[in-house]
Amino acid sequence: MPERTSYDVVIVGGGHNGLVAAAYLARAGRSVLMLERLDHTGGAAVSTRAFAGVDARLSRYSYLVSLLPPKIVRDLGLRFAVRKRTVSSYTPAVRQGRPTGLLVGGGPQRTRKAFAELTGSDREFTAWQRFYGSTHRLAERVFPTLTEPLPTRAALRARIDDDATWHALFERPLGETIEETFTDDLVRGVVLTDALIGTFATAHDPSLRQNRCFLYHVIGGGTGDWDVPIGGMGALTDALADAARRAGAEIVTSCPVTGIATDGRTAEVTSAQGTIGARRVLVNAAPRELARLLGEAPPPPADGAQLKVNMLLTRLPRLRDTRVDPREAFSGTFHIAEGYQQLETAYQQAAAGEPPTAPPSEIYCHSLTDPSILGPDLVRQGYQTLTLFGLHTPARLFTADTAAQPATRDRLLAATLAELDNHLAEPLAGCLARDADGRPCIEARSPLDLDRELGLPGGNIFHRDLAFPYAEPDDPATGGEATAPGRWGVATGHPNVLLCGAGAVRGGGVSGIPGHNAAMAVLEEDAAAGTGGTGG
Ligand SMILES: Cc1cc2nc3c(=O)[nH]c(=O)nc-3n(C[C@H](O)[C@H](O)[C@H](O)COP(=O)(O)OP(=O)(O)OC[C@H]3O[C@@H](n4cnc5c(N)ncnc54)[C@H](O)[C@@H]3O)c2cc1C
Repeated sequence: MPERTSYDVVIVGGGHNGLVAAAYLARAGRSVLMLERLDHTGGAAVSTRAFAGVDARLSRYSYLVSLLPPKIVRDLGLRFAVRKRTVSSYTPAVRQGRPTGLLVGGGPQRTRKAFAELTGSDREFTAWQRFYGSTHRLAERVFPTLTEPLPTRAALRARIDDDATWHALFERPLGETIEETFTDDLVRGVVLTDALIGTFATAHDPSLRQNRCFLYHVIGGGTGDWDVPIGGMGALTDALADAARRAGAEIVTSCPVTGIATDGRTAEVTSAQGTIGARRVLVNAAPRELARLLGEAPPPPADGAQLKVNMLLTRLPRLRDTRVDPREAFSGTFHIAEGYQQLETAYQQAAAGEPPTAPPSEIYCHSLTDPSILGPDLVRQGYQTLTLFGLHTPARLFTADTAAQPATRDRLLAATLAELDNHLAEPLAGCLARDADGRPCIEARSPLDLDRELGLPGGNIFHRDLAFPYAEPDDPATGGEATAPGRWGVATGHPNVLLCGAGAVRGGGVSGIPGHNAAMAVLEEDAAAGTGGTGG
């Protein structure tokens, strides 16, 4: 039960971004109430014991961290850390009828050799180094801006100060740059995958939504590295919830908000706990849910497109490419059926309403880098986790017939694992652990499952299409640049209702950035008005 009838801030949704906002605002002396629909906080950033009677805490949805600024970890005094992976990726392939692959990692000399062995020359490696050298410089310049007020497009361009990279990423479809820069189909595919995570697009999509997805995948932390959260995603959420509570925020779970009413100055938030007054409402739920709560028309749909699979193995499978140790191959991002042409074919099939015949996906083994998510018995027995993220399986493939949804998902899962098996010396199924009831330890989630469980619209992992990280006059979240919420990219159509989740500009991913930015907008506005908080 909430302690008061009215708060400085009520936060709708207890995802990691809502928790970041709650912690900042409570620390600044605001009275904060968070209402979360589920019986736990964390949203898509949680760990779960997914398999009955098995002591393995898997990051059920999101699994790698890149975009979380160290500043947020420091400011909030979080006990949370990430660990680097020694291998960034491995892509198996068949060349001249023989199994081979491309391992990126283990230092530049080893990576150079891997490129040369796969492609027969140094050309692709040189192109790779030049391309990622420029995204690295871009990352150094763009990442710090994400926790500042939004720059204009011109200001961001000036800050990047590299016209070629600006043009390649901000102005023309990424496919053009990839095709000009690389010649090998597999290398092109590996580069393109970062543009397609949770994003249903072709390399040449004129909307540039693939460019935006790529951008957020290469700027995190100022390096573009994707690191392993020690203890899993639940460790981050637990540290955040702890920080918010310690600062005085009240968190109520199992409490779906059913309505928001506002006159622009004060608001009322309705839930099973009754109606609570608020000076401001921060919405961590997706923009589609915000519209529903306000009784407004929903934003245009922007469906997600991924299949998420969690597995526990008794041991890692052997690879057909015997030159690579499975412990190295699976510790980085292991690409499956992600050649450039394969990605295009899968997109075209899914766009025509057919499940891809060779579904592209990527997998990674958390427990190789951080075994702390497994109980000591499982570690001793050599058990490992596997997380699979499938591409190009949009929500529309599942919507035609509700009753058929599980069967569609299971068919896609089987086709996805068959693509993996093509590169293994033994079927994956033989390596799956069994739960306490004797069932194989594997669970899969379609976009519609994610919509039902987490409220992600059409399963969109970013709540909506990602936005370029600058002020766009047409985007409601930056509309009214004269206001603090507009400047921070967290505005809605109502002055005292702010987005604080992935649907804000510079939202999406496990970053805490929109939570931070919504809190900054509130504090900036209060400072300008000379108002403080009524908390603690
Ligand atoms: C399968 C999957 C894999 C991913 N992998 C990665 C990854 O590896 N790395 C990465 O950086 N990102 C990844 N992402 C994306 C990332 O997890 C999300 O973008 C991020 O978690 C969004 O955080 P959020 O706090 O803004 O929103 P959410 O996590 O969506 O939280 C919103 C919260 O609001 C609650 N809510 C909704 N409606 C109401 C209501 N009416 N009343 C009360 N509460 C409500 C929800 O229950 C939820 O808890 C992945 C996402 C998914 C689904």
